[in-house]
Amino acid sequence: MFETLTQRLEQIFTNLRRRGKLTEQDVDAVMREVRLALLEADVHYSVVKDFVSRVRERAVGAEVSRALNPAQQVIKIVHEELIKTLGEPQWLNLTGPKPRALMLVGLQGSGKTTAAAKLARLLRSQGERVLLVAADPYRPAAVKQLQTLGEKVGVPVYYEEKVAPPLLCAKAYEHAQKGGYSVIIMDTAGRSQLDDALMAELKAITDKVSPADILLVVDSMIGQEALHVAQGFRQAVNLTGLIMTKMDGDSRGGAAISIRSVTGVPIKFLGTGEGIDALEVYDPSRLASRILGMGDVIGLIEKAQQAYDEKTAREQAEKMMSGRFTLEDFANQLRQVKKLGPLAQILEMLPGQLGQAAKMVDPKDAERQLKMTEAIINSMTREERLNPDILNASRRRRIARGSGTDVQDVNRLIKQFREAQKLFKTFQKTGGRGLPNLFG
Ligand code: GDP
Repeated sequence: MFETLTQRLEQIFTNLRRRGKLTEQDVDAVMREVRLALLEADVHYSVVKDFVSRVRERAVGAEVSRALNPAQQVIKIVHEELIKTLGEPQWLNLTGPKPRALMLVGLQGSGKTTAAAKLARLLRSQGERVLLVAADPYRPAAVKQLQTLGEKVGVPVYYEEKVAPPLLCAKAYEHAQKGGYSVIIMDTAGRSQLDDALMAELKAITDKVSPADILLVVDSMIGQEALHVAQGFRQAVNLTGLIMTKMDGDSRGGAAISIRSVTGVPIKFLGTGEGIDALEVYDPSRLASRILGMGDVIGLIEKAQQAYDEKTAREQAEKMMSGRFTLEDFANQLRQVKKLGPLAQILEMLPGQLGQAAKMVDPKDAERQLKMTEAIINSMTREERLNPDILNASRRRRIARGSGTDVQDVNRLIKQFREAQKLFKTFQKTGGRGLPNLFG
C-alpha cells in the first residue's frame, strides 16, 4: 500500500539524514519535496497546502532536542501532523438501545457487501449478536453474495423477495428486536454513479430505521474522486463514518489522507484484502507510520526521547571518549536501553537495512544476554566496577556465583568491555565526530 508515496518520502528523509545540521533552507527544500510527493499521491491540494505549512512552521521553530538529530526531529513532526490530518479514531456508536442498526452505503463495486460481512464477523467475535440484511433487491447476485458470505462468517442474513428496501429494513429491524439481536448490518444497494433515486431510497431507509451509524464504503483506489462520492452521499444521509477498502491495492494513498480532512467524516475501518478477516480498525498513528514507511522508527524516536536522560547521556559520551568509561557506566547504559522496552519490540522498529539485520538476531537470546550482563555487573563491588583490573580469578569466581552465571560468562563480559573501551579510545584518537548514528 502507498508504495510510491512511501518510497518518495523515504528518499527525502534519507537525504535529510545525511546532513548534519538542519537550516531553514533545508526545511524548505524538504517540504517542497514532501509537497510534491503528496500531490503525486493524489492528496487534495488544500490538504497538502495546510499540511506543509503546519510542518514547516513547527520544524523551523522547533526546539532542538538533544535526544534526536535534526532529521529525526522533522520526521517526528511530519508524523505527528500526518496523524492530525488522518483524524482521531472513532469506534462505532454501539451504546444505546438494542439492536443497533448499522447501514452501509456506497457505489457499486466499492466493496460494500464484503465489508458488511467482514464487519459482521468482527462484531460477532466481540460478542455481539449480529444480523445481516440484504437490502439490495435489484441485484439478485448481491443478495446471493451476502448469503454466501454470511454463511462463511456464521451470521444469518435477512432477506425478503419483492419488498422495497425501506420496508425490508424496517422488517429486518423488527425481526432482530424479537430475536434478541444486538446489531443489524444493512447492506444497501450501490449504483455505478450517484443518482437521485438511490439517494431518495437511502433517505427513506433512515426514516424507517434511524441507524446508529451510516458508514460510507469507499474504494481507496479511486483517489480524489472519493471526495466527490463522499460529498454526494452526505447530501442525502448523515454519514457517521467511512470504510476505506482495497488499501492492499496499489492505491496512491491520497484518498485516505484527504478524505477525513475535507469531509470531516472519520475513517472507522480499513479493508485490506479480499479475505473475510481483512478488516482493520482504523488507527491513524499506525497508518501514518505506514505511509511514512519507516518501520516503526517513529515509535522508536518517541521512546528514545522519553527514556533519554540528557545529562547522564552527555556525561557518559564524554567519559567514553576520554577512555574513562567504567563498568559502572556500562551498567547505566544497560539501564537506559532497558527503559526503551522489550528488546524484541525495539529490534522490530528499526528501519531499513538495520531492521533487516536485526531480524536475524534472536530477541530472546539478546534479552537473556542483557539480563546476564546486568546480573554480573550487579554482583561486583563498586571498586571492581570502577577498576576492572583488580578482577583476579577468585574475584571472578565469586561474581559468577553471586550472579548465577559461569566464570566464562564473567570473562566474556570483561573481554567485551575491554574491547568497547579500546574502540572508544580509538574514536577519540581519530577525532571521531561522534558515535555512528543509529539511523544513518
Ligand atoms: P459491492 O458491489 O460494493 O458490494 O462490492 P463487493 O463487496 O462485491 O466487492 C467488489 C470486489 O472488490 C470483490 O471482488 C471483492 O472481493 C473486492 N474487495 C472488497 N474489499 C476488498 C479489499 O479490501 N481488498 C481487495 N483487494 N479487494 C476487495
